[in-house]
Amino acid sequence: MHADALVVGAGIAGLTTAARLLRLGLRVDVVDRADAVQAAGAGIMLHPNALAHLDHLGPGLYRAGHPIARQVTTDPDGTAAVLDWAAVWGGDRLPLAIRRRTLSDLMLDHLPPDTVRWSTEPTALTPAADHVDVAFADGGTGRYGVVLGADGINSWTRQYVDPEAAPHYLGHLYWRTTVRGAPPFDFDDWRIWRSGGHFFGGMPIGGGRYHVFLQAGLADLRRVAPERAYREMAAIAAGMGPAVHGLVRSLDPLDTYNVRPAQGLSVGRWAAGRVALVGDAAHSFSPATTQGGAMAIEDTSVLADELARHGVGPRALAAYQERRRPRVRDFARLARLHGVLSSAVQANLTPGRPAGDGTPQGSAAWFRRLYRPLMEAA
Ligand SMILES: Cc1cc2nc3c(=O)[nH]c(=O)nc-3n(C[C@H](O)[C@H](O)[C@H](O)COP(=O)(O)OP(=O)(O)OC[C@H]3O[C@@H](n4cnc5c(N)ncnc54)[C@H](O)[C@@H]3O)c2cc1C
Repeated sequence: MHADALVVGAGIAGLTTAARLLRLGLRVDVVDRADAVQAAGAGIMLHPNALAHLDHLGPGLYRAGHPIARQVTTDPDGTAAVLDWAAVWGGDRLPLAIRRRTLSDLMLDHLPPDTVRWSTEPTALTPAADHVDVAFADGGTGRYGVVLGADGINSWTRQYVDPEAAPHYLGHLYWRTTVRGAPPFDFDDWRIWRSGGHFFGGMPIGGGRYHVFLQAGLADLRRVAPERAYREMAAIAAGMGPAVHGLVRSLDPLDTYNVRPAQGLSVGRWAAGRVALVGDAAHSFSPATTQGGAMAIEDTSVLADELARHGVGPRALAAYQERRRPRVRDFARLARLHGVLSSAVQANLTPGRPAGDGTPQGSAAWFRRLYRPLMEAA
C-alpha cells in the first residue's frame, strides 16, 4: 500500500483532512492539480463551529486573524441593524476573519513537508475489495486504503460517488479583494451596505488588511473577465447610493478582484466503497451564510472520528456519510432561510436609527436560532 489515504485537493478541506488523519497516525498523500496553494477570494470568516476543529493550528491562527464582534447592516436611508455575534454564539466565542492566503499558509506549515504533491491529479480510480488503485496524470500509480475527494465544487472524484450531482447557480455573483486598513476602511466590525438586491461590505482580516466584497443579485449568471471586474463592480455599486459608490471609488485593491458565482450543491451519496467526498465536493451553500468552509472543516473532524473507530475502509466512510448527510441537509435548509432572516433583521429596526447604537435583541435571537445548532458536536 502506498499510503492509507489519498486526499485529492489541497484546499481547506484537503489540508484539514490531512492534518486530522496524520494525527491518527495514518499515512496520507495529498495531490493537487494546481502548482501551489490556491487561496483566491481575499478573506474568509471562520465561525466558532469551524474554529472548534482547528486547534492543531495553535494560537497563531488567532494572532493572524481578526475577531468580529458585530455586524452592521445599513440601508440607503441610513437605517442600520447591529448583529452581536457574541450573543449569537454564546460565551466568549466570536467568529474570526482571516486572509485566505494566511489561513492556507498556516494549514500547510502545520503539515510535514512534502505531504502535498502539487501539479498532480488522478486520472482513474480502480476500487478493489481491500484497496483503491490510482493512476495519475504524470504516469505514476499508487495503491491506497481510501481515496478522499476534497477537490472542490467541480470535483473530479465525485463521478465515482454520485455522478448525478451537479452544482447550480444561486442567483448572485461575488467580487472580492483585499485593501490596506486605511480610511474609509478602518472600522472594527463587519459592515454591510445593501440596496436593490445587492450587498457591499468589508471587514478587518488581520495583518492590517480588509476583506472587501460585493454580492450582486443577478438573475443570469454573468461571466466577468478579470480586466472588466472593477468596471462592472463599480457600475453596480453606483446604483447602490452615494455611500457605497464612494467606498468603491476609494478602493485601492491589494489583490486582483476574484469573481465567483454563488453555487448550490448537495450530493445524495457521500461515499461509495472506499471513496468519499469532503467539503465543497459534497456540498455548497450561499456564501452569504459564511459557512461553506466551516462545514468542510466539520466534515474532516467526523471523517477522522469514523476512521479511528472503524479503521481505514468502507465501514468508516459509510458511518461518515450517515453522520454528515442529515447535518448538512439541515444546514442547507437553514441556508435557504438565511436570506429571509437577514431581511427580518432590518424589519426589527426603527427607521432612522443610526448604526452602532445598540443591539436589537430580536435580530440576535433570530440568528442564534440559525447558528447555535452548529455548535453541537459535528
Ligand atoms: C464568495 C464566497 C465567500 C465565502 N465565504 C466564506 C466564509 O466567509 N466562511 C466560510 O466558512 N466559507 C466561505 N465560503 C465557502 C468556502 O470558500 C468553501 O466552502 C471552501 O473554500 C471549500 O474548500 P474545499 O477545500 O472543499 O474546496 P476548494 O477550496 O475549492 O479546494 C479544492 C482544491 O482541489 C484542487 N483540485 C480540484 N480538482 C482537482 C483534481 N481533479 N485533482 C487534484 N486537485 C484538484 C483545487 O486546485 C483546490 O486546491 C465562501 C465561498 C465563496 C464563493
